Amino acid sequence: LEEGARSSLLRHRHRLEQDIKPGYLMDHMISDGVVTVDEEERIRKQPTRKDQAVSLLELLLKKDNQAYVSFYNALVKEAYDDLANLLHGHLPRPPCEGDKSPSDGPTSYVQAMLSEGGVPQRPVVFVSRPELVNRVREKLYRLQKNPGWVTVFGMAGSGKSVLAAEAVRHHGLIEDCFPGGIHWLSIGQLDKPDLLVKIQTLCFRLEQSLDSQSLHRPPNSLDEAKERLRFLMLRRYPRSLLILDDIWDSTVLKAFDIHCRILLTTRNRSVTDSVSGAKYEVGVESGLDEDKSLEILGLYTRTRPRTLPEEARSIVRECKGSPLVVSLIGALLKEKPDRWSYYLRQLQQKQFKRIRKSSSYDYDALDQAMAASIEVLPEEHQELYRDLTVLEKDIKIPAQVLCVLWDLEEEEVEDILHEFVNKSLLFVDSNTKPYLYYLHDLQLDFLVEQNRTQLECLHAKVVRQYQQHYGDRHPTSGEEECLYWIRFLTFHMAKANLTQELYSHMFSLDWVSTKSQIMGPAHLINDYVEFGSILDKEVRGEVRSQFQEFLSLNGHQLEQRPFPDVVQLALSQPHNSEVYRQARQQAETRASAG
Ligand code: ADP
Repeated sequence: LEEGARSSLLRHRHRLEQDIKPGYLMDHMISDGVVTVDEEERIRKQPTRKDQAVSLLELLLKKDNQAYVSFYNALVKEAYDDLANLLHGHLPRPPCEGDKSPSDGPTSYVQAMLSEGGVPQRPVVFVSRPELVNRVREKLYRLQKNPGWVTVFGMAGSGKSVLAAEAVRHHGLIEDCFPGGIHWLSIGQLDKPDLLVKIQTLCFRLEQSLDSQSLHRPPNSLDEAKERLRFLMLRRYPRSLLILDDIWDSTVLKAFDIHCRILLTTRNRSVTDSVSGAKYEVGVESGLDEDKSLEILGLYTRTRPRTLPEEARSIVRECKGSPLVVSLIGALLKEKPDRWSYYLRQLQQKQFKRIRKSSSYDYDALDQAMAASIEVLPEEHQELYRDLTVLEKDIKIPAQVLCVLWDLEEEEVEDILHEFVNKSLLFVDSNTKPYLYYLHDLQLDFLVEQNRTQLECLHAKVVRQYQQHYGDRHPTSGEEECLYWIRFLTFHMAKANLTQELYSHMFSLDWVSTKSQIMGPAHLINDYVEFGSILDKEVRGEVRSQFQEFLSLNGHQLEQRPFPDVVQLALSQPHNSEVYRQARQQAETRASAG
């Protein structure tokens, strides 16, 4: 099996195993002569559909290109279009032109490419800005032959991110200029350690896509991270585009000054001054023209723009057509269609607290609108919304996590989330089961700013609620919510300054075993690096390096399934190490339990 095909099977294994019905697929594959009747029989003997799917994939991985093509065709025939799309990019034969649509609308190829790189989807209410989009595309075409930078700049909420995502939603552009892929990275305001983690995560994602078995130690410093990224972009992902969303600081860009193709959005036009290479820029006017703004209000309120009330024009004038403000108010009006004059008055009187002090940009209208959306919530829901301050950017969570955090029944949580989503205070990804919820970057910025003095408490609440719900046992089911906890529990502990809790997790063989089984050892190594400064505060530097060493040495083992016996592995550590001590203790307990 060709490497690309193999890696795409490995990469999407989990999705495939979740969704396919092997029985039907195998019928097609038998008639293509790529699966034998014996093999089919063996697979059918598995007790559940999932088990059958798992063994079908195992079988496929041992087969050749023809089997991959046959499997792909079977998916298409059985109408698993989404899954087929995932595999399409690595079909060993050159892909046929069949799925290329004549217009520039998104084709399945485009959609697969963008969702793989984490490019956000269009907002639900969307108006086109063809002139701007074309200007960005035209600049992107200049990167066809050579690396360089395209900067999209404009004020907060002017629609830069939506524009950047829209510009790459184009079959011809991707094929001509960025066949290597499009990778989206949200940056925002961050300091050096956060930047390092972002790049580590990006490298991890890129490396995983190539080969899920690979385990590199995550880069330890920004310089090292830059080198790793340079290698990946140059050698493994040539002709791909990196989109850096919301850059504040030119020092951040230095880390990406690696001679590759970059599209970035920023409020600060001069961020690229100190990097090298060809540079192009597109300015986004801060507001939409009146017609487009009215179109948005009309779409939200299901009214034809001509029949919108008087106040509509005034609202647009008041916020200067800011896409963000118009959308937020549109969403409010959708719920309360008789409040046109009320929202207009609120905007005019600027009676909302000015929370974020504006620097060179004018955030006022934005903050007002943002605060307005929150203030219309019932008081107890405002409090629940504030709990979301502790989420990480770009992380999507299932309702279950909030059941734990809020200590509420699932149905109640669903109703509350529904309310937040309707008011544009929260976004939902309904392509997944269970649905996943997330905040807009600006909303998260706003929340963090507003609750700056309480961050520690808010993180501590997460940890306490978790402990109350799960006690000493960690959820290990592999469900979405379990993934969240395993991934972020220690992060919340660190942010809450709960150092004892953090030590007792990071330096526990049980936790190491649970987390590396569920997330893979690389994540865990990442944690040791990220929390290094906290963990090393007491005389623990040595213990940390013992655990890190253990993970690095056994990384390959820990990637294997079935998952190895961690206690056994740990017993071969040096006898003076904490890892060995704990393993030995566990081995003795086991022995005495018989
Ligand atoms: P920026 O990146 O400039 O801060 P975004 O691109 O994130 O702004 O846009 C902010 C909000 O404005 C979006 O969440 C969306 O609600 C609205 N918006 C932006 N562009 C459009 C558009 N073309 N059509 C409809 N709404 C838009």
